[in-house]
Amino acid sequence: MAHRIVFLGPPGAGKGTQAARIAKEVGIPHLSTGDLLRAAVAARTPLGLQAEGHMRAGALVPDDLVLEILHDRLEQPDARAGYILDGFPRNLAQAEELGKFSEVDRVVSFDVSPDLLVRRLSERRTCPKCNSVYNLSTNPPKVPGRCDRDGTELIQRPDDRAEAVTTRLKVYAEQTAPLLEYYRKRRLLRTVDASGAPDEVTDRVRRALA
Ligand code: AMP
Repeated sequence: MAHRIVFLGPPGAGKGTQAARIAKEVGIPHLSTGDLLRAAVAARTPLGLQAEGHMRAGALVPDDLVLEILHDRLEQPDARAGYILDGFPRNLAQAEELGKFSEVDRVVSFDVSPDLLVRRLSERRTCPKCNSVYNLSTNPPKVPGRCDRDGTELIQRPDDRAEAVTTRLKVYAEQTAPLLEYYRKRRLLRTVDASGAPDEVTDRVRRALA
């Protein structure tokens, strides 16, 4: 199985949910630049303070900041055996940078209709403590409003509100979608149908990585 893996897809496609599952199965870390940036914002680090406004608006955080945070994370020992990158790279410049410091074995593209994305984002709730992700209709928490793992009160991410979602989908189409062609040309790309129940999608992702 491929071990240096990139999950590519629009916001709401289910990358984070699937990355958490597969990473656990395979025993490699799930590296979400969104989670790393949100942790930096919550900790009020200088990098987090610079990133916050961009994130809230649904825009990309400048490449140098994202690269700094990712680079630090990739240097930790648990990432040596491999990783799943979720939310990185998000533009061609980031893909080029990634190629300079790591090989990539497989890129999985999550394919979902725009209508379903908007619905999933509006119904998504997340745990600010452990980053678990829920969906109010398809994957609700056992106790309404509380994380199954640690009981923390679930939140709606500020950038999952309608105003920022439009920007995020536009940013994806303009800046991230060209990476599909970039990785297709390098024969690394596998596309999965990311609609349907999470378990069905997990099976498809496993096959794409085999
Ligand atoms: P995500 O959790 O992947 O949806 O990311 C949430 C937000 O974090 C994005 O809308 C961006 O503002 C920022 N972000 C995450 N990853 C990146 C990246 N690779 N490049 C630039 N900004 C990013």
